[in-house]
Amino acid sequence: MRSLLLSTIILATGATLQSAFPAEWQESSPAKEWRSEHRAIDLHQHIDGTPEHLSRAVKIMDAAGIGIAVNLSGGTVTRGKDGSPSEFERNQQIADQLFPGRFIEYMNLDYANWDQPDFSAQAAKQIEEGHRLGAAGFKEFKQLGLYLRDGNGELIHVDDPKLDAMWQRCGELSMPVSIHVADPKAFWLPYDEKNERWEELRDHKSWWLGDTHKFPAWKDLLESLNRVIARHPKTTFVCVHFGNNAEEPEWVDAALSKYPNMLADLAARIPEIGRHDPATIRKLFLKHQDRILFATDFQVYDRLILGSSGNEPPPTDADAEVFYAKEWRWLETRDRNWEHMTPIQGNWTISSIGLPAPVLRKVYFDNARKLLARSLPTPAIEARHISQDFDLNGCLLSPLWQTARPVRLEQASYDGTVRQELSTTVRALWSDQFLYLAFEAPFTRLTVFEPPNLAGKRVNLQTDGASLWDRDVVEAFIGTDRQNPRHYAEFEVAPTNERLDLMVKDLPEKDFGWNSQWTTVTRVDAKAKSWTCEMRVPLKALSADTPAAGIQWQANFYRCDRAQRGFLAWNPTLQGTFHVPERFGTLRFIE
Ligand SMILES: [Zn+2]
Repeated sequence: MRSLLLSTIILATGATLQSAFPAEWQESSPAKEWRSEHRAIDLHQHIDGTPEHLSRAVKIMDAAGIGIAVNLSGGTVTRGKDGSPSEFERNQQIADQLFPGRFIEYMNLDYANWDQPDFSAQAAKQIEEGHRLGAAGFKEFKQLGLYLRDGNGELIHVDDPKLDAMWQRCGELSMPVSIHVADPKAFWLPYDEKNERWEELRDHKSWWLGDTHKFPAWKDLLESLNRVIARHPKTTFVCVHFGNNAEEPEWVDAALSKYPNMLADLAARIPEIGRHDPATIRKLFLKHQDRILFATDFQVYDRLILGSSGNEPPPTDADAEVFYAKEWRWLETRDRNWEHMTPIQGNWTISSIGLPAPVLRKVYFDNARKLLARSLPTPAIEARHISQDFDLNGCLLSPLWQTARPVRLEQASYDGTVRQELSTTVRALWSDQFLYLAFEAPFTRLTVFEPPNLAGKRVNLQTDGASLWDRDVVEAFIGTDRQNPRHYAEFEVAPTNERLDLMVKDLPEKDFGWNSQWTTVTRVDAKAKSWTCEMRVPLKALSADTPAAGIQWQANFYRCDRAQRGFLAWNPTLQGTFHVPERFGTLRFIE
């Protein structure tokens, strides 16, 4: 799979892409593995909602190794006068229908009723409606503070109190905000060929903001946004284009340090950040590694836009792949003084910052997975059919287990924070008799009940800390009845092979006397600091109907690791309990 994808990239773009990679960078790296698995998330794209433009975007994302893109141009949620679907609904519907799981849509605000006395409440209502329709977040464009004017022709400021109810609602509904204010500093400087952004300004006169009668000063816009961020500490603000101030990394550093609810995306600003001392920038990335997110501003309309564009001939798909390759090159290598990915932004070279793998994956996807936890596509695990049953021995190196594609259990269930050091795999197989599950979990120190109670069930609802789930366990929740999602089986196994099965009848009602007749084996590898658990559950204990290839059950997997305060879920429940059937993923039986 992996080498196939890589060779496709090279075939598709020939020498152009090759020359974007330095020779020594061809070797394998964790990042290449992530791209082959399409794990990267691009937090900042603008994709026109037509079948042609969406499929062109997906083709380029596939070649570049992007799994999910956030389309910030989802549109407003205002319905047509005749009740026809909103722009947002149309965009979301077509993307979900044609490419399920590939695009996440943000909504935009409709300012048409700004002058009405209750606009503040209307704006908050728009956010609620977007949330109801499945918008993952809210995007504000640079129009705010620069172009939007009220009925009297006065500029609408970024920190206008009329918008406060709306910002607050975003926080209450866990809708992250991506916000663009201001623009490159040079857009405020004299409009002539000495301007370092002359090529862009020459092709777009309207981007020039140096007319002081029309536009606020550059710094005023940033300060106005900071007031909003400070006023709404429960709302998450992703300040796009590297904190809206790529020219002043020290300013971005200070703002990130001051506002815990501020994040920064990289969209279209690597050409600018890459001009600065790479050691300083690298330090900033390490310091704020949980707050910086991969993003490009890649756009697909009738023409592709790769960070910016002017009147030059339109870029090709191969150019787009080179654009992405240069993003990787900047983040992953230590190359000095090379030609950046958006030449129209200015005639200079950039130097790479070579991030270490644990930080890279945060920037590429872990930070985005936490930010978007509420909206990411429901995960699926495939159970492959086996024709013969086998005995459990706790070892997953058998050819059978190795053919089962693992899923990863690595996010904190409560809030989606990725705990890469606890990354635990889950595999599934099925025979005509049994469902087999295998967990493989790294650990530092095990926390278990000694001696284990291997005969009975350790459940004590009266005393805190006295039940099996109060120490280290792996867990599987499995629901077979889509009509009745609050009815599911629960299985828990500790590293000592002490275990517990129960049936949740109608959540929260639980039957601890239920017995599935399951078999389990665990094995602790003290040297490798890893423990494994195999479970074999009779299918007839789970469902009266024998499953066949093609059917789907609902499941979620969990792990408690007390020593590292890890309470992980395959699909985070985003609450203080694992018992949230609405958040179960899919267990798919395949041939
Ligand atoms: Zn953008």
